[in-house]
Amino acid sequence: MTIGEQTYGWQESNEVIHITQEAYDSILSQARKDAPVESCGYALGVKGEDGKLKITYNYPLTNIDHSEEHFSLDPKEQFAAIKYARAHGLVVVGGWHSHPASPSRPSEEDKRLAFDPNAFYLILSLAPEVSGQPYVPEGEPVLNAFRIKEKEVTRFPVIV
Ligand SMILES: [Zn+2]
Repeated sequence: MTIGEQTYGWQESNEVIHITQEAYDSILSQARKDAPVESCGYALGVKGEDGKLKITYNYPLTNIDHSEEHFSLDPKEQFAAIKYARAHGLVVVGGWHSHPASPSRPSEEDKRLAFDPNAFYLILSLAPEVSGQPYVPEGEPVLNAFRIKEKEVTRFPVIV
């Protein structure tokens, strides 16, 4: 059992999601600019023939709550993002939001609002943490993707 499982009670997936350096940098700089308010967007990308997902583009969305602890999306922006993805042959890999001061794991509210068990919910933590998560050097921001079924959480590492 990993420290992540012990500490956070999530399941570990064997699958990983890849992200381009450019898309990762875009998400990170947007989140840093918006901090301490939570930042959000859609991670767009491609699905390879092997079924593997790769995030290639960050579509920024406005946190209409302008809150440090919550986020809400503007349906018009969401629609525009999906339209953009279709026009560019991209898929919506998942929605992402930042946790400016807490770890990369779904909050109770995140779990409550996760209606789609097949969607990926990506969370970028700007709070350096020691979480026992592989692939992430200590003190660095952490980006994880989660699938949330009822209260059961599965983590998919996101790798640049
Ligand atoms: Zn959250």
